[in-house]
Amino acid sequence: MAIVDPMSSLHSPGRGRDRWQDTASAAGLLADDGGVAVTIFAEMSAFAARTGAINLGQGFPDVDGPEYVKQAAIRAIEEGRNQYAPGDGVPELRRAVADHQKRHYGLDVDPDTEVLVTTGATEALTASVLALTRPGDEVLTLEPFYDSHAAAIGMSGATHVTAPLVPGPDGFRLDVAALRAAASPRLRMIVLNSPHNPTGAVLTRDELAAVAAVAQERDAIVVTDEVYEHLTFGAEHIPIATLPGMAERTLTVSSSGKTFSFTGWKIGWLHGPADLVTAVRTVKQFLTYTSGAPFQPAIAQALADDDTPRALAATLTERRDLLCAGLEAAGFTVNRPAGTYFVMADASNLLGRLGLRDGVELCRRLPELAGVVAIPAAAFCRAGSPTAKALASHVRFTFIKRDEVLREAATRLAGLGVPLS
Ligand code: PMP
Ligand code: GLN
Repeated sequence: MAIVDPMSSLHSPGRGRDRWQDTASAAGLLADDGGVAVTIFAEMSAFAARTGAINLGQGFPDVDGPEYVKQAAIRAIEEGRNQYAPGDGVPELRRAVADHQKRHYGLDVDPDTEVLVTTGATEALTASVLALTRPGDEVLTLEPFYDSHAAAIGMSGATHVTAPLVPGPDGFRLDVAALRAAASPRLRMIVLNSPHNPTGAVLTRDELAAVAAVAQERDAIVVTDEVYEHLTFGAEHIPIATLPGMAERTLTVSSSGKTFSFTGWKIGWLHGPADLVTAVRTVKQFLTYTSGAPFQPAIAQALADDDTPRALAATLTERRDLLCAGLEAAGFTVNRPAGTYFVMADASNLLGRLGLRDGVELCRRLPELAGVVAIPAAAFCRAGSPTAKALASHVRFTFIKRDEVLREAATRLAGLGVPLS
């Protein structure tokens, strides 16, 4: 992707790489000449803004969450909740997280010792990886993977190993044999993600049981990213912490951004056994200490509301179908997602005719060809990995946009399917 900021002057010969370079490299953002790119999401959103293209790249809603939640935040500001919140998070939000986990999944969580409020799921994930892994450890993720998972592993100096999700008639499915083969005795942590960005897969009980068996066999910690827990389309979301023997080795991460359409508020959390939460808190308190004081009580109120996420999932199902139909009409082969904001579409049938090599080239040209922005699957893979090769022709589109925006995008994309004269 674009190299925007050559930093070679910071790099003294012979010094080796600093942590920021390991971080950028892990996320595929470091060039051979020492230059570094911004994330694919930032790059593509800027691209959309510059070209006026419809942004189906970065996943954020174009309609805010409920008015009553906004009013709760405004009230909290007016009532003076504007100084540091407790490092663990305000008590009513920790209680709301525990209640939510009990109500939805039957998990018993102590709000005083087993919950940590964080600056979005991103901080929860990164602080967990930093707190509990070190150079020499192996950390396993699915591949493709959300970029911050790889970046956090790079930051900690651990070694990133992956198990692929493979496209098929039932969506993207975990290659269980590859998972077992990837899990060496050095495995320290599995960073899981279900519902999964970017494939839209919702892991089945059998797939989760396979992950759990590997974690137990290797005595590994599981950090599970469940930010899309409520955004499923008929598939059941099963937290891995509910599987036998898993609560004691699992940190469950989620966030209000996706569930309540306030991605900019960055109120996230994790819960798990008190000793693991203490480890993560120890790191987190020196990253941000605390953030979002007036937003925390507002999200505490929202977390008691199951209607808002249910309604969002229902309209998202329709929006998924609308975008999938548009993509199919345009000549993509669509792998219908069971959850999340995203659909993976295979452009194999279009690339040759458009004279393009792969999904990366397609995404670079899509604003000009169709006035739409998408993200190549390669951005979620390690450069040159077997999964990157297998998904070279795939691109990710988001459908967390208003119907009229998706209809307009479908109309524009339909032009791609028209034979060139
Ligand atoms: N995990 C996944 C899988 C995501 O897609 C995202 C993007 N929202 C995040 C984590 C980050 O969440 P937050 O904005 O709460 O930090
Ligand atoms: N989670 C969002 C996505 O996958 C992006 C968040 C970000 O820009 N880091 O599109």
